[in-house]
Amino acid sequence: MLKRKMIKNFSWPLKTARKAPEMTRQYPEYMMELPAAERGIHELDATTCIGCSSCARVCPNSCIEMVAFKFGNPLKNKKMQYPRIDYGRCMFCGLCVDECPVECLKMGQKVTMAGWTRDDIIKGPEVIATKRLNAAEVKAAEEEAKRIAAEKKKAAAAAAAAKEKAGGAKAPVAVAGEKKSPAKKPAAAKPSETAPGGGAS
Ligand code: SF4
Ligand code: SF4
Repeated sequence: MLKRKMIKNFSWPLKTARKAPEMTRQYPEYMMELPAAERGIHELDATTCIGCSSCARVCPNSCIEMVAFKFGNPLKNKKMQYPRIDYGRCMFCGLCVDECPVECLKMGQKVTMAGWTRDDIIKGPEVIATKRLNAAEVKAAEEEAKRIAAEKKKAAAAAAAAKEKAGGAKAPVAVAGEKKSPAKKPAAAKPSETAPGGGAS
């Protein structure tokens, strides 16, 4: 019995020594493949985000704040405000993604967000914006936005002038110095001097 046990104890290490040792994957060098529906760090398309703040309003944990970002699209987002997400509070529910009216926000595949302080895991548009404009494109878009605004202003002024002109033609012309006399009310019928049924004798 004892002899059999001893043989077993010696044979096991000899068998396993020939196999490659099993070990944990060496993170972060080896990342496991994540499913397509993985909800990781958000991905923002800053070229189409309109800065409506719907994502911030719907977030149940109030972890989205709108902040300035200079590589967005001024033609779509006049105030250039984009979401910044506090991953210390985010529960990856995806409600912000569902609420986005232009579908420019989605859950990404990156899950690494370790940091030394809480601020390290607050990711602004400079991190989550996977699509953005470069400085030259932003400048060109700003010029275009200015041109469109000037055209709109000109068109509105022309429409107002045309309306005023049309209104002036229809209105009655007032003669200077002429006073309008108030319309006379018809005189109320005087009560008959003789009582009804009674004749003058
Ligand atoms: S995934 Fe949920 S908790 Fe996280 S930012 Fe979006 S709405 Fe908020
Ligand atoms: S990400 Fe979507 S919901 Fe959030 S501000 Fe931009 S357009 Fe609005």
